[in-house]
Amino acid sequence: MSDSEFDVVVIGGGSTGTAVARDCAMRGLKTLLLDRDDIASASVGTCAGMISSGLKYRGEPEIVKMCSSEVVHFNHIARHIMSKNPILVPILDFSTVAGDGDYVDSYAEYAEERDVPAMLFLTPEATLEIEPLVHPNVIAGVYYEEFFINPFRLCLLQALDARRHGASIKTYCELVKFETFENEIKGIVYYNRITGATERVNTKIVVNATGPWAHKIARLAGVPLDLRLNKGAHVILDRRIVNVGITTKETVDGRWVYLFPHENTTLLGTTALDTWEDPDALVASYDEIEYLLSSIETVIPSIREARIIRTMAGIRPLVPDWKVPEDQVTRGYRIANHDNGLISFIGGKLVMCRHMAEAVTDLVCRKLGNDAVCTTHEKPLPGNEDDVDIELLSEEYDIKMHVLERMRARRGTEITKILELTKDHPEWKTTICTCEPVIEAEIRYTIREEFPQTLNDLRRRLRIGTGPCQGTSCTFKTAAILSEELNLEGDDFLVDILDFRAERWKGIRPSMRGEQLVQEELAQGMYSCVGNLDQSDVDYDIKPWEEGS
Ligand SMILES: Cc1cc2nc3c(=O)[nH]c(=O)nc-3n(C[C@H](O)[C@H](O)[C@H](O)COP(=O)(O)OP(=O)(O)OC[C@H]3O[C@@H](n4cnc5c(N)ncnc54)[C@H](O)[C@@H]3O)c2cc1C
Repeated sequence: MSDSEFDVVVIGGGSTGTAVARDCAMRGLKTLLLDRDDIASASVGTCAGMISSGLKYRGEPEIVKMCSSEVVHFNHIARHIMSKNPILVPILDFSTVAGDGDYVDSYAEYAEERDVPAMLFLTPEATLEIEPLVHPNVIAGVYYEEFFINPFRLCLLQALDARRHGASIKTYCELVKFETFENEIKGIVYYNRITGATERVNTKIVVNATGPWAHKIARLAGVPLDLRLNKGAHVILDRRIVNVGITTKETVDGRWVYLFPHENTTLLGTTALDTWEDPDALVASYDEIEYLLSSIETVIPSIREARIIRTMAGIRPLVPDWKVPEDQVTRGYRIANHDNGLISFIGGKLVMCRHMAEAVTDLVCRKLGNDAVCTTHEKPLPGNEDDVDIELLSEEYDIKMHVLERMRARRGTEITKILELTKDHPEWKTTICTCEPVIEAEIRYTIREEFPQTLNDLRRRLRIGTGPCQGTSCTFKTAAILSEELNLEGDDFLVDILDFRAERWKGIRPSMRGEQLVQEELAQGMYSCVGNLDQSDVDYDIKPWEEGS
């Protein structure tokens, strides 16, 4: 097959698309993965990363069973980017949780398989000992555990593993057109948003894994597809303010909301609203932020003293069930086999992405007469091959333990490839992002091995600019390294910084209040005075694709 001939083209580099590309490539199919932006740049990047036991969906036992099996698979293939987090439900009024007894049974059913203890009931004293910020009027607590994954690293590792198995991965390439013959898709046309070039390839099958854009892609192919789009927002606090995750139903509408320690921050979420908003212009609203703060305030009264550094909002591409309250729409998934060579996903969740990919790849293989079986649940993702002893590494490479601890959580066994770089370049041990922290060697390794093209791509891979200072002190330094590695010139350098700031600003703007106003004033001052960015008049709009371009 030539470079422009594929068995399957996967559209969408989120959790679903990267999982499909990995499975297809591992079964020997010639695979191309396209995303119009970066890997994990859309819905999956706004999610909480919970690889949940499916407890919330206990009315659908097959989903609970699937989620539990997927927890086991992820623990086998990706444990280096996972964490098992304790969660506490503070109870202020027994009537709030009356009728939730089946949670306990549902949780217990697969607890052993997932390697978590059964739910524990706690006295008020024990509840307050675990989390002193809980409301002093607490009358009991429930303790359980759930797994979380780094969604950005998961998508990237799936993409890298797909590439390791022969797949081509193209970011910033937007599908703009299908080419058909007698109603069968024979090829696709994509627009490279970085170079401005339009290219085409032949393919036998196209998998539409574009999440909340899936109906638009189907429309391009001339087939109908319905989704029920559901908006969710998170508020991000500047540090880990609680010892354990907190969940509560003491909310104005009786929905569960949560406050989870998340990397070096805390995540308050989430809303769930039917939406007709444009997924490309999504921001958290004032109402969503107030809803979340006033909900969690019932059990953590001091929540408003914490500094909000940012918000983020995404869209769940749910199955199109009507006349059902949002909370009761299934979180299961469906596969639409359009019979013109296009296959689309509807619904699903991050936790199901490997399962969804296996189901679709089985279908693709049947269509192409390939009898290879799925092994994505057995073969580890890059970095998960072994345990890593950071104490030994700290001595060997003379790098602080807290730096290595964070690096290990992103890299697993791949950490040694980064540390080896510091033998020839000891100056690359310098910490560039102090919030996370990230050293120069890891930034250079990422640029060379993980195909980032922009500062935002580096943020997704390394969490650069996501901490309390929101990039105030690391943006220029990181941009300089990126420019040197990619040979960027004057305007490109500035455009990238402006673009990075614009992306941060999207999430910061709705949350500006209290001390964050002061922090933002400082950040603006740094960019304007030190970086002279307020004087720059570069044109940084990406040109949209036009027929014939
Ligand atoms: C607030 C919130 C919290 C959540 N929390 C959790 C959780 O804790 N656990 C969980 O399991 N699930 C969670 N979810 C659900 C989960 O995030 C989504 O189900 C999942 O991320 C969807 O992934 P995806 O790959 O299908 O879509 P996306 O991540 O949206 O990926 C689709 C991709 O398609 C690309 N694309 C679109 N059009 C084109 C085109 N023309 N050409 C090329 N590429 C294109 C986009 O750029 C995008 O990268 C949450 C969702 C939200 C909104």
